[in-house]
Amino acid sequence: MSLEFSQELEAPIVTTAFTPQDAGEVGLRPRLLADYTGQEKAKGNLSVYIEAARRRNEPLDHTLLYGPPGLGKTTLAGVIANEMGAGIRITSGPAIEKPGDLAALLTNLNPGDILFIDEIHRLNRVVEEILYPAMEDFAIDIIVGKGPSANSIRLDLPKFTLVGATTRAGQLSAPLRDRFGVSLRLELYTPEELARIVSRSAAILGMEIAPEGAMEIASRSRGTPRIANRFLRRVRDFAQVMGDGVITKEAADLALSRLEVDKLGLDTIDRRMLTAIIQNYGGGPVGLETLAATIGEEAVTLEDVYEPYLMQLGFLTRTPRGRCVTGLAYEHLHIPYEGQQQFSI
Ligand code: ADP
Repeated sequence: MSLEFSQELEAPIVTTAFTPQDAGEVGLRPRLLADYTGQEKAKGNLSVYIEAARRRNEPLDHTLLYGPPGLGKTTLAGVIANEMGAGIRITSGPAIEKPGDLAALLTNLNPGDILFIDEIHRLNRVVEEILYPAMEDFAIDIIVGKGPSANSIRLDLPKFTLVGATTRAGQLSAPLRDRFGVSLRLELYTPEELARIVSRSAAILGMEIAPEGAMEIASRSRGTPRIANRFLRRVRDFAQVMGDGVITKEAADLALSRLEVDKLGLDTIDRRMLTAIIQNYGGGPVGLETLAATIGEEAVTLEDVYEPYLMQLGFLTRTPRGRCVTGLAYEHLHIPYEGQQQFSI
C-alpha cells in the first residue's frame, strides 16, 4: 500500500489517473446534468432516457460509459442517480473478488438504486456470470451446500440500474456488452469547455481567476477535467507565493512551465514518445510494445493516457502496422520534416 502510494505521488503531473493530490476533486463534481459541462451528445441522449424512465416510473436501462480516464464517468454516474432521485453504490471491477461480494452488493440495493462498477472490464469471469441474470432478470442464483447435495436457489433482486465504466470497451466480453441497453462514449473536452469547468471549480474553491488564466490552464489540460482541476490547484500555489493570488494567464504559464507542461499540455513522456518514433523509427510505423520498451514506459499507459490526446492533436496516427508521427508533431518539436521515411520490418 505504501509503495502504491509513493508511486502515485511520483505519477507524472499529466496522468489521467486519480492520484492523492486529486482528493479535493470530489467536492468539485457537478451533481446535476445542467452543471455537467460538455459531452453534449452523451448528455442529450441521456436526458431523454432519464426523462422517459422517470415518466414510466421505472429505473433507467443499464448504462455503459466508456472513454479515457478522468473525463467524468464516475461523475456522470452520480449525476444519473441525482437526476433519477436514486441512491448510488460505487465499486470497481477489481474490488469484487468473489461471487459472494457481488451477491452482497446486489441484495443490499434498494429499488431504483444505481450500482456503479468502475473498470468493469476487469471483473473476473465467475463474478461476471452472476451479473448476467442480475442484469437481465433482476435475480441471482445462489448455490447452497456442496457436492451432490448442492442446491441452486434463485433470489429476486430489486430493480436497479447498473452503470458500468470502462476505458476499454473493446475488452468487455460480448455477453456483458449486450446486456447494456444504453452505451455512451465520452470524448475529450474542448479547451472552451475545460475553461468553463476550471472557472466553475475556481468559484467553488473561492479563487479569483481571470478568463485568460482559465483558458491557459484549459488549453494545457489534454482535454481532461481531472487534469484541469489538478493544474488549477498547482497554479493557485504559484499565484499565491509569487503574486497576489489571482490566477492570471502569466501565473498559469509560469506554473505550468515549471511543471514542464508545454503550451499544448505535452509533458516529458509525450515528447520522449514522439522523438523516439522520429529518431529511432524514422517517424513510424512502430508497434506499441516496441515503442513502450524503447522509452521504458508501460504499453497500457501509453495507450490509455498519452495516445488519445496525441491523436486528438493530430500528432500521432494508429495504423495496422503501428504508430506514426505526423508532420504537425515534427513542427511542434522543431524537428525538420522531410516526409515520412517508411520503416520496414
Ligand atoms: P472518470 O470516472 O472518467 O475517471 P471522474 O468522474 O472521476 O472521471 O472525473 C474526474 C473529475 O473531473 C471529477 O471529480 C470532476 O471534478 C471533474 N469533472 C469531470 N467531468 C466533468 C464535467 N463534465 N463538468 C465538470 N467537472 C467535471
